[in-house]
Amino acid sequence: MAGEGRAPLPVVPPPFRDERLSSWLERIADVYLVSLDDLRAHVGWSRPALQLEIDPVQTDMERIAAATNSSVERLFGMTFHNASSRCRSLLRPDAREICPICSRGMQRPPRLRTWSFAFSFYCDRHRQPLQSPDTRGASVLSDVGSACRGAAILSNWAKGGETAVVPVDAAISLLLAPHRKPSPPAPWELARLARSDQQAHAMELSRPCPRPVLGILVPEFNSAVPVYNQLLPRALPGLRDAPFAERYAIAIGLARLLKNPATAVAHILETTDEFGRKKVLGLIDRWPTGIRNAVARGARRTTTRGEGRGTAKNACFTRRVRAPSGRDAWRDRADA
Ligand SMILES: [Zn+2]
Repeated sequence: MAGEGRAPLPVVPPPFRDERLSSWLERIADVYLVSLDDLRAHVGWSRPALQLEIDPVQTDMERIAAATNSSVERLFGMTFHNASSRCRSLLRPDAREICPICSRGMQRPPRLRTWSFAFSFYCDRHRQPLQSPDTRGASVLSDVGSACRGAAILSNWAKGGETAVVPVDAAISLLLAPHRKPSPPAPWELARLARSDQQAHAMELSRPCPRPVLGILVPEFNSAVPVYNQLLPRALPGLRDAPFAERYAIAIGLARLLKNPATAVAHILETTDEFGRKKVLGLIDRWPTGIRNAVARGARRTTTRGEGRGTAKNACFTRRVRAPSGRDAWRDRADA
């Protein structure tokens, strides 16, 4: 077999703390001015390095350990073999995020295991935002505090934890749900776009665009990502493949939603049309009773205020809340 019986490599740079196996192997290949594939052929491991990180093969790990004078246990610790299924569902094997301080003076920046999680935005060691080629729109999303809180909630969820109020996947499902029927961009949304963008994306702009709840709780998302390009998945695992700005906005939205779910849901319901209202209430129906009751109480207060003041906005909300519907579970239960 290739690599069997070969002497260990004479020079091997030490791995960084939490460095990914693929990152380290790339840096070893750089020492010998060869490609990763050339190093693989020389050492004799079989699977591509990115696959090996997800599903390590014992014989491959033994060959790399022999070539680098490392222990197999240490190499397994550089892979994701122990990651929980939740964590794996949000792993981005192709992640290329780097920390500018960790990488200072280095020919090839190291990539850490932690940074492969879809909701890792900062280097824990240097408190620096991670850099990647995919930062389109990120500068508009400046609520760092909420982004960090949301990322921490998702990281805890990936390790098997949960929040005390609303299950994390249920909260994410709400953020991804539509609050209105898809509709073509409004004039003020078109006005946000450069004329060159309008011309380049004329086809997309003529089609109905999705209207996710995320845009209500994180209105800056609508400036960060053009309305024709808000391509959010339907469920939490799909966020693994979402662009940076989408993932960052979701983290902000999750933190804002879970800070006070009842108030947030009441705010969302103020903006829904009948289509969105059914979707939102259908999702809330599976939430804990206490939250649903709080939402219903908030809706009644809003209704009362609307009747007292007679404002157009509240009157509109009143009509929506009072409108008979085939399924209005949270109100029915709260009123029971
Ligand atoms: Zn760093």
